[in-house]
Amino acid sequence: LFGEGRKNSDGYDITDAPSLLILREAMAQAEKEPWTAAPLVGGAPVAGKAMAVYSPADRGYKVGDVTLATADTAKDAFERALRAQPLWDDVPATDRAAALERAADLYEAHGARLMAIVMREAGKTLADAVAELREAVDFLRYYAAMARADFAGPTDLPGPTGEIDQIRLHGRGVFLCISPWNFPLAIFSGQVAAALAAGNAVLAKPAEQTPIIAYEAVKLLHAAGVPADAVHLLPGDGPTIGNALLSDPRLGGVAFTGSTDTARLINRKLADRDGPIVPLIAETGGQNAMIVDSSALPEQVTRDVLISSFQSAGQRCSALRCLFVQEDVADKQIAMIAGAMKELKMGDPAFLSTDVGPVIDAEAKAALNAHIADMSKTAKKVGETPLPAACDKGTFVAPMAFEIPNIDVLKTEHFGPILHIVRFKAGEIDSVVDAINGTGFGLTCAVHSRIDETVTRVLKRLRVGNAYVNRNQIGAIVGVQPFGGEGLSGTGPKAGGPRYLHRFAVERTVSIDT
Ligand code: GLU
Repeated sequence: LFGEGRKNSDGYDITDAPSLLILREAMAQAEKEPWTAAPLVGGAPVAGKAMAVYSPADRGYKVGDVTLATADTAKDAFERALRAQPLWDDVPATDRAAALERAADLYEAHGARLMAIVMREAGKTLADAVAELREAVDFLRYYAAMARADFAGPTDLPGPTGEIDQIRLHGRGVFLCISPWNFPLAIFSGQVAAALAAGNAVLAKPAEQTPIIAYEAVKLLHAAGVPADAVHLLPGDGPTIGNALLSDPRLGGVAFTGSTDTARLINRKLADRDGPIVPLIAETGGQNAMIVDSSALPEQVTRDVLISSFQSAGQRCSALRCLFVQEDVADKQIAMIAGAMKELKMGDPAFLSTDVGPVIDAEAKAALNAHIADMSKTAKKVGETPLPAACDKGTFVAPMAFEIPNIDVLKTEHFGPILHIVRFKAGEIDSVVDAINGTGFGLTCAVHSRIDETVTRVLKRLRVGNAYVNRNQIGAIVGVQPFGGEGLSGTGPKAGGPRYLHRFAVERTVSIDT
């Protein structure tokens, strides 16, 4: 229905040596160019005092120079976006879609450069950088396809009135898109593409840690034909940009991915202003679990735990935080996980051999280390990855596993490579699910069991947005595994799903007496 014949991006096959060599060479070339970021207002970089930013993998590696947006820059961009929006909304949806599809092609054409930036600026491993680019391209094409399918013209609603009745979809106005550093190209592009596809103008506020990749993305959107005043980039400090824009009654809506606390703050600011009540589309945190019963395959569980907990250094909101293992198999299962953790390689994300790269910055490292210190006092450490001395150059945190009595010990989300393990007894599966639901979060959960009734029982009781059976629980695919949680994990609708674009739109019914 939504974009027949739509295909996900092929990406790069980094297991194929010749194409890997070509890719690495292109990335190395891109790394020789100077990288910068600045506010982009009306398509032009705004001058200001630039500051150097350094890679999380190596604090001596300068990634580029960044100029931040001030409150005045944000307000200027807002005025221009307000003027541009009705014109962009008037552009036929098929033409808006075509611009996004051209942007997807440009992302692919400049893929090596985009991946090099993601690797250096966000510390992503090569494999994660490949996935990041693919997801960004998929979002652009998926929302373009949805715009073609649903926004291209009035939809006739035949009925008993004898009139012409139609429904038409339009953009809501100017959308503020606030994106996270953990998917600095994919989620950034997804939010912006959805808002644009639906006919909104966009003020894009990338995470403080990752403005350079966002700058590249907006330049490519403009090059693809999105008007300069339909999307502006506002790199900078959250409160500065937020305070300048969120209280303005002319703001049409906010798309936000980040912490539950920040989502609440945005919600409060939107509620406190005069003017219309507008959508806040928030994708927030998780306290994600995996349930493993005694029928599960231990090798498969080990592999899926490692991927779910430690890929991207655990910096995904979908990542596994709390593993529930049935007592009967727990000792053996935990020993296998601990053994595999010892084999993980930490280091430079540019090396193909690296499994776990750095965490994003010193603040993230300090918060995780504080949690580790706390756990070391109150819980039993059952697994750890060796931290090579070379990792001192960057903000690395070694994967660790702790046994805890239950999930409610975890009061907040710990956004990094820390796994918690809880044992449960046969027959307790309902209370395990209740404990998971009891966290209030509802993002991802995996179930490993070969017993169909157990899987059915768990899925029926579980309150999460993305459930996975006998596999890992990260890396949702655009258009195939729409992503997003419930409860404290988000408002919906799901990113990469068939209802996402509609939340960025108003519906207008027109009835014509013939
Ligand atoms: N969609 C991503 C996944 O399935 C997670 C997004 C996030 O961390 O915000 O792993």
